[in-house]
Amino acid sequence: MTRSSRFIPVRSAFGIATLTYLASVFLLSGSLLIWTTLYILILFLLLKQEHPGSTASILAYDALPIDMPRTGGEGKSVVVVGGGISGLTAAKYLIQAGCDVTLVEQREIVGGNNDPYLENGEHHASTVIITLPAQQPHYLHLCREYGITQTPHDFEDLKGSIVFEDRELNTKMGSGIGAFVKFIYREATLKELIDGFTIFFKLYYQYQLQPESPKSLTDVLGERLVNSTVFTHFYMPWVGINTWCRFEDVDRQPAHVFAAFIFEYALSLKTRDKSAKYKEDYWCVLDGRLIHKLRDRLLTSDGYSQHLNTKVTQIVRDSEGQLSVRAEDGRNWDCDAVIVATQPTQALPVLADVAPSSLVTELRKWDQMDCYVLFHTDFSDIGNRPWLHQTHRNVTTGNFYITNTIKPRMGDLDAKYLITFVYNTENYIDFKTNHLDESLIVKTYEPKLPIFNLENSIDRNTVWRDIDSQCTDVFWTQACRSGLQYHNNGILSSKRVVRRVLGLDW
Ligand SMILES: Cc1cc2nc3c(=O)[nH]c(=O)nc-3n(C[C@H](O)[C@H](O)[C@H](O)COP(=O)(O)OP(=O)(O)OC[C@H]3O[C@@H](n4cnc5c(N)ncnc54)[C@H](O)[C@@H]3O)c2cc1C
Repeated sequence: MTRSSRFIPVRSAFGIATLTYLASVFLLSGSLLIWTTLYILILFLLLKQEHPGSTASILAYDALPIDMPRTGGEGKSVVVVGGGISGLTAAKYLIQAGCDVTLVEQREIVGGNNDPYLENGEHHASTVIITLPAQQPHYLHLCREYGITQTPHDFEDLKGSIVFEDRELNTKMGSGIGAFVKFIYREATLKELIDGFTIFFKLYYQYQLQPESPKSLTDVLGERLVNSTVFTHFYMPWVGINTWCRFEDVDRQPAHVFAAFIFEYALSLKTRDKSAKYKEDYWCVLDGRLIHKLRDRLLTSDGYSQHLNTKVTQIVRDSEGQLSVRAEDGRNWDCDAVIVATQPTQALPVLADVAPSSLVTELRKWDQMDCYVLFHTDFSDIGNRPWLHQTHRNVTTGNFYITNTIKPRMGDLDAKYLITFVYNTENYIDFKTNHLDESLIVKTYEPKLPIFNLENSIDRNTVWRDIDSQCTDVFWTQACRSGLQYHNNGILSSKRVVRRVLGLDW
C-alpha cells in the first residue's frame, strides 16, 4: 500500500497525541480522572443538546403516531393520481374513512419507483431495497397492520467496502463507529483524520444544534473540505449515494439533508420507535411485500376502483365548481377531491390550473434527476462482499461520480443478481463501458427522483402544513415532502394529506 510521505500516519499521530495529552494532564492538574470525566461530560452534554428547529427535532416530530379516522369520508368521491407508495397509502386511508376512491396509474403496474424483478415466481430486489423500520415508524406500523414481518438483510456477518482511493474501508453495515476508528488508526493520514472529524462535527452541528437553514454542503464545509479526499472518496460514496447528492449538487444540497442520513439512519443517535423489536431494529429488506398487500387489499375493498395504463393529463374545474380528472385516452372522472401523488415535475402540468398558487410555486422548486439501476451478474469487483461504495472519474468529462453496488439478499433467497446505482446518463455510460462486463447486464431500470435543493428542503413541515391548509379539493403529496424521500416519508405525507381531505388538521 503506497502512502504519501507528506502526511503523518495516524498511528504515529495517535502516539504523539496520547503522550501530549498525558503530559498536559500530568503538568496541569495531576489528575487524569478529573480531566477525563470533564471531557466525557462535555461530550455527553453536546449530544443531549437539540435545537427545536433542527432536523433532529423535525424527524422526531415526523415519527409521532398519526391517528387515521375510520369515518368521516362517507359520500365523498376522491381520485388519486399515481400508484406509488404515496398513492396507494392515500387510497388505503381514504377507503378506511369511508370515501369512494378511484386510483389512476400511468404504468401497467402499481408500485411507482419500487420496481420488482420477477423470475420463476421469485421476487428479486431491483430499485428499492433497504429500510430501517425502527427509524421509520409509519412504514413499520403499516407492515405490522398487514402482518408483514421484517426480514433483515444478511449484512451483520459480512463486511462491505468503501473504496477509499488506494485503500479499502471494510466495515459491517450498522456495526457502529468501531470499524471506522480501526481503519483510521491503521490506514488514514493525520490530515485525513482531522478532515474526517471536522466534516463529521460540522454535519452533526447542522443536524442537531442548528435550525434547518438554506446552507449547502459547500457553505457549511467550505471549498477545501468538499474537495478533500475524505469527502470525495468516503463521505460522497457512503452518504451522497443515499441522499441523491451528486458532485454537482454539493453547492445546492442542504447540509442538513446530507447529515440526516448519517445521524438518523447510519449511526442512529436516537431510536424513533421504542416499540421496535428484534428484526425491526435492523437494516431490513424492502422487497415490495407492502406494495403487494396494499394493492391486494385495495382491490377487494368496497368503493375502490383502479385504472392502470392510464395517464392523467389535466384536472379541470367547471363554472359550477365541479372537479374532473382527465386522462390521455379521453376518459374522465368527476369527483369531490383529487390527491395527486406523483413527483413534483409530473404533478405540475396536471394540477397547475386548479391548485392554489402556493402549491404550484412550491412544486416549481423541484428538478428531477436520472438514476440508472443496473441489474447484473458481474461479481468481479464486489466478490463476496454484500456492498461496495466507490468514487470513479468519468473518462470523458474528467469529473468524479459515485456508485453503490449491492448484493441484496431477499429473505431466504440468496442474492443471484447485483444491482449498481449510478446517477446521470454520462456516468451510466462511463460505468458500463469502463467498469462492467456489459454482457452481464440483465436489465437496466431508469427511475427518476426529485432533487433536494436550498429552496425546497428547509423546514418542510411549516411549508406543507401551510400549503395543505390552503387546499380545498386539489391536494398533492409525494415522498419528497419530508425526510429523505424514503417509503416511510411517502406514507407519512399521505396520512397528513388524507386528514386534510377529511377536513381535519395534520
Ligand atoms: C435508485 C433508487 C433507490 C431507492 N432506494 C430506496 C430504498 O432503499 N428505501 C426506500 O425507502 N426508498 C428508496 N427509494 C425511494 C423510493 O423509491 C421512493 O421513496 C418512493 O418510490 C416514492 O414513492 P411515491 O409514491 O411518493 O412516488 P413514485 O414512486 O414516484 O410514484 C409516483 C407514481 O405516479 C405515477 N404517475 C406519474 N404521473 C402520472 C400521471 N400523469 N398519471 C398517472 N400516473 C402518474 C408514476 O407512474 C408512479 O407510479 C429509492 C429510489 C430510487 C430511485
